Amino acid sequence: MNHRVRRLRAQESTLYSDAMSECIFCKIVEGSLPSHKVFENDDCYAFLDIFPASRGHTLVIPKKHVRDIHEADALTYSKVAAAAKAVADLLAATLGSEGTTVFQMSREAGWQTVFHLHMHVIPRWKDDGLHKPWDIEPANDADLREVLQQITK
Ligand code: AMP
Ligand code: ZN
Repeated sequence: MNHRVRRLRAQESTLYSDAMSECIFCKIVEGSLPSHKVFENDDCYAFLDIFPASRGHTLVIPKKHVRDIHEADALTYSKVAAAAKAVADLLAATLGSEGTTVFQMSREAGWQTVFHLHMHVIPRWKDDGLHKPWDIEPANDADLREVLQQITK
């Protein structure tokens, strides 16, 4: 490895560990920031959201630092999804919720604000007053075909 590559690698690993040491969810996993633990297994940790959309709103995260859905490997993402399923069932059984909404925001344009992958598991009740964050309009068939062509070409 030449000097330039070695220097870049060193910078990269410093940046990466800085990002992790600044990450509030990594701090929650290691216990240096407090949290209200709901669930834990070898790979994932789940805790109450401190700005809850509903009673019992829980965040499910991988214990290792992964930024978002695009940077996660499929196995890590599937472990978070499996833990979110366990949490959804736990909340439904214990809180008597009537439904569940799961959200996963990735990157700024996807509304992510904490850059450690997480799934929101939101217990729902018919009269809880939450609403979908997008306006519903019927799609134009030509637009559907055009986007499908781009996706599948
Ligand atoms: P997102 O906007 O999808 O990135 O979600 C980040 C979520 O983390 C928000 O719903 C916040 O309320 C929540 N949050 C931020 N800091 C904490 C914390 N220290 N403990 C629990 N939840 C938090
Ligand atoms: Zn992190």
